[in-house]
Parts: sequence; C-alpha cells; structure tokens
Amino acid sequence: MRVESIIWDMTYACPLRCHHCYSESGRRPAVSRREDVLRIAEEIARVKPRGVALSGGEPLLAPGWEEAVQRLREAGLPVGLYTSGWIMDEALARRLADTFARVCVSVDGGRARTHDMIRGRVGSFERAMAALELLARERRERVARGEPCYALGVEMTVMRSNLAETELLVRELSGRFPGLGAIQLGMVVPSGLAAEEDFEERELLTNEEGQALLADEARLATLASHGVRVGVSDVRSFYVQGEPGAPRLLFAHLEPDGRLRAFETCEAKVGSVLEEPFEVLWERALAWRGEPFVVEQYASIRTMRDWARAARALDQRYGSAEDVARIARRTWRPKASGM
Ligand code: SF4
Repeated sequence: MRVESIIWDMTYACPLRCHHCYSESGRRPAVSRREDVLRIAEEIARVKPRGVALSGGEPLLAPGWEEAVQRLREAGLPVGLYTSGWIMDEALARRLADTFARVCVSVDGGRARTHDMIRGRVGSFERAMAALELLARERRERVARGEPCYALGVEMTVMRSNLAETELLVRELSGRFPGLGAIQLGMVVPSGLAAEEDFEERELLTNEEGQALLADEARLATLASHGVRVGVSDVRSFYVQGEPGAPRLLFAHLEPDGRLRAFETCEAKVGSVLEEPFEVLWERALAWRGEPFVVEQYASIRTMRDWARAARALDQRYGSAEDVARIARRTWRPKASGM
C-alpha cells in the first residue's frame, strides 16, 4: 500500500511550549543532527511520496533544513512547512519562498491572550502576526512579478479555550493578510500532551462540539475576505479502525532521529530509516495497525475521550522505555510563562 504523504518532525527544538503539543517539543533534547537530516531527506527522495510536510518542533531550527528541502525539491516532491513564525524575518521569508510549495503558520486564537496561553509563551501571537505579514507581503510581491511562491495558510488547533474564537480568527486574519490562501480549523487530536488526562478534562472537545464545528464550516467560509478558503478538518480520519467507513490513514510519520511511528498519533516506533529501508518499516507499520491489542483499542473508540484513553493505553504498551519515563514526568499547566 503506497504511503500518501510523509510528515517529518525534523527536530524537537522549539521556542514555544504548547499545551497540546504531540511531540513535547521544547521540553526534550532537539535530537536532530545535520548529517542525519540529509540522510533522511535522501531516503524520502528515494521513496517519492505524494508530498512531504515538515513539522516538529520548529523545522527551521533543524540543522541542514534548507539543503534537505532542496534535495526533496530536486526529487520533484512538493514540500510544506508548519511553523509558529516565532523566528521569522524578511530574509527567512525570502528563503522560504525559494524552497517551499506551502507554508502554514499556526495560530490558536483570535485574541493574543488566548493564543499565548495555549502556546505557552507571551508574545507568540504578535510574532505569528508579524510572520504572516512578512510571508504575505513576500508572496504578493513574487506573484506580482510573475514568480512562483509558496501557498500561504493558517492552521488553528481547536479546543475548549479557543472554540469561541473561530469566527474572530477567520474574519481578522482573512481581512488583515491579503495573499493568505487558506485557514484550516482542526479539532485537537488526543496525542502526546493532548492525550493527558488533565488536558482531556479541560480542553478536549466533546463529540457534539466537534460535530458542531464541522457543521459550522460553510458559515465560517462565508465570513472570510479576499477569497480565503476556510476548512474544518474531520480528525476521525486519524482513527485506525474506529468509525465504520473512516478512511485508513496512509500518512507516514518520521521522528527527528529517523524512526518511523507505527501510526501518526501513537508513540509506537517500528525502526529507523537511518538503519533500514523505508519500505520495510512501512510494511511493519501496516502490520502493527492490525495487531489485536491495537484493533481492540481503536474499535472501542466512540467518543473523543475514548480516543484519549486509547492513546494513553497504546503509548504505555508500545512506547519505548524512554517514552514511558518521559510521559510519567509530564505536567500540564494552563498558563503562558510571564502571564
Ligand atoms: S505544537 Fe508546535 S509550536 Fe507548539 S511546542 Fe509543539 S512543536 Fe512547538
């Protein structure tokens, strides 16, 4: 079965401390080394998925990110970037325009206070807005000159704290940044820190809230200016066996040290592309998805809270000793530093 897309967490280095972070970035060693980054890029270029998305951590802090993206481009692969925008400046915006097919800035609230609380760092909203200003301007200028440039998007992770701000975010950002192409609203997925019991209690959407958000998509789309497209992600596609008829996810998820996750939202790893060919690991990942304990866990999911419980059970059973020890040390704090 062919992998559709590869999500590559290039590094765990990150200036932010988001409460919902699936990778716990910024709170653990960055891991990535330039020579490994380039070797992983070489392996992805050989495999030729339909697309590659760079995530993290902050991918722009990974050593060798630009060479890696150039290599993927040479292989004909469209590469997308997820960034918080914290380190953006004019020169970096120009470099992104020369390398990426798509750039997506994460914004988790229509108000600075909400975004900064969720993202765990005061000033992160203003930095994201400044990044969008630079990126949108760079795009407008390139398009005016008839030059290619990234498609620019915003992604909002929706949870209880910011559920009431979807409309504000769509209105404000679509009006403020001509050149922005799309705003994607995605319900928070219970994975990593967002699978913790405290987070589940305080922030995870209920099924009803998720359904209401999906039903609100068309209305939200009418509120956007400048032709900005608005979409709501149906996260049920992340279930392995849950909803009858839900698509089986064919994303492959690579960690900074080259290890392939058996499934996007789980700590289970099936080996590293630095040691074995991707195809061998991918077969192993697909086989993992059919293991009785995995099938039993996902088949039991009826609600978002069931999903969080299943995620915790799978992480405990299949995470490495290091993962399990890190999970045991976790704390969840609903305040941004300095607030
Ligand atoms: S969610 Fe993204 S920006 Fe936030 S801490 Fe994790 S990697 Fe960093």
